[in-house]
Amino acid sequence: MLNEFTYCPRLGYLEWVQGEFADSADTVEGRYRHRRVDQSAKRPAKKESEGEEEKVVLHARSVSLSSERMGLTAKIDLVEGEGARVTPVDYKKSKRPHVARGAWEPELVQLCAQGLLLREQGYECAEGVIYFVGSRERVTIAFDDELIALTLERIAQMRRAVVSGEIPPPLEESPKCVRCSLVGICLPDEVRFLRANAAGLPEPRPLFPASDDTLPLHVQHPGAKVAKRGEVLAILDGDALLTEARLGEISQVALFGGVHISTPVVQELCRRGIPLTYLSSGGWFYGFTHGMNHKNIDLRRHQFRAAEDRSRCLLLARRFVQAKIANCRTLLRRNHELPLDQPLQQMKWDIEQAGKADSLEQLLGVEGMSARRYFECFDGMLKLADPLFPEFDFNGRNRRPPRDPINALLSLAYAMLAREWAVVLQTVGLDPYLGFYHQPRYGRPALALDLMEEFRPIIGDSAVITAINNGEITANDFIKQMGAVSLTAEGRSRFIQTYERRMSSEITHPVFGYRISYRRVFEVQARLLGRHLMGEIPDYPAFVTR
Ligand code: SF4
Repeated sequence: MLNEFTYCPRLGYLEWVQGEFADSADTVEGRYRHRRVDQSAKRPAKKESEGEEEKVVLHARSVSLSSERMGLTAKIDLVEGEGARVTPVDYKKSKRPHVARGAWEPELVQLCAQGLLLREQGYECAEGVIYFVGSRERVTIAFDDELIALTLERIAQMRRAVVSGEIPPPLEESPKCVRCSLVGICLPDEVRFLRANAAGLPEPRPLFPASDDTLPLHVQHPGAKVAKRGEVLAILDGDALLTEARLGEISQVALFGGVHISTPVVQELCRRGIPLTYLSSGGWFYGFTHGMNHKNIDLRRHQFRAAEDRSRCLLLARRFVQAKIANCRTLLRRNHELPLDQPLQQMKWDIEQAGKADSLEQLLGVEGMSARRYFECFDGMLKLADPLFPEFDFNGRNRRPPRDPINALLSLAYAMLAREWAVVLQTVGLDPYLGFYHQPRYGRPALALDLMEEFRPIIGDSAVITAINNGEITANDFIKQMGAVSLTAEGRSRFIQTYERRMSSEITHPVFGYRISYRRVFEVQARLLGRHLMGEIPDYPAFVTR
């Protein structure tokens, strides 16, 4: 971590104190190189002839050392030595940089710390070696007074940062961020932009990919079995293979209804950090399995503290509700067949009222009123050319069970949103069950319901409108039984595709100005909420589409 802290104090803090980690091409390759070093750890010590005598040259690999006095532990790639004189050797996957001291400061400090640990064990250690695998060069680094003083200073700085409990600020427009594996977690430019209230700052750089290269796997074939075959998940009906998906391309696995899954598959998903979610065959979200909980207990502590504070709850709740009404209004403005002057004006007023609400109960009232106005106009966004939709009578939301096709679609879309949010919040280290607007109730992912408010119209409702207006879902895709309307398996499968397409679509971020998929937006919003709860940014920037 000393290497990371020297590279960027915030990076060291994120990894060491907050337990964050993310792989990049660099970290994966670095791990692979180190594994090769570790694998050769069992080689015997070399014997070399020197004149008459045979001297033993020590070659010890993957040597773990620690010092309570210095507060340091290290795993040294290789220790070479002769008698009491030893040299730590550190492997770097890169090529040798052509810089004055032979290596960059983080590498020098890391190596010197290893040398200090060896000295503390009673060895003579005057220099170390960095072996640059990329260019196959050994560079010898002398542990002079200047480097030792720098190393001790970095150790002291890191200790002070840990004790302070305050995350160091992001670097300013640093090229280091471009190569940083934690850039999507740290959000350096976004945090600086929001802290400064954007005054005079350039828009954040697009430092991480706009879209994920992994996607959810939905399994809804009744009685299907999920099995692992090497690097692939196979979906089987008896012995017949229905489909396969590469594990490396899956972001989460969603099981609808009575799908079977084996313990080895669950273990593998936990090991890889791929969440497994369970839904009823109709799409009702039951819960999920995730690997170990996120290590950032400090974040959850801040969340719990904020949730105890009624005024903080109200501030956040206002943001969620205002953003939701604003997004509903935008959806109507963009998609309704008629100009809707009066409802749009009323919803604008609702946004103002939500901003003034002085209790959660009052806010609930404003939200309910605005939702009624919105859903009264909802059918004007639908092109119901299908003559088989005569039963469609959309006079507002009805649920548990939905009594018309549109409400059946909306219920499924909202259940998928709740599931998505529960998984995202858990992944970033927040507790999905403790909300600010939605109050805790047994089994209810209250924070997921909070965060999904602003996305109900732009993801859930929008997917429903698209599915109907494009003819992807027709009246034939529904079953009516005892007054309850539900989707057929085929209709549900097609709607899930529409929904996932919406989640993958890229938009221009309304605040940061770069291209980003909605799937990524969710993660950014969850992390920004975390930054707000931990006091790094003054407000939670709710997502309001233009
Ligand atoms: S993204 Fe930049 S500021 Fe953030 S941890 Fe990495 S190097 Fe530091």
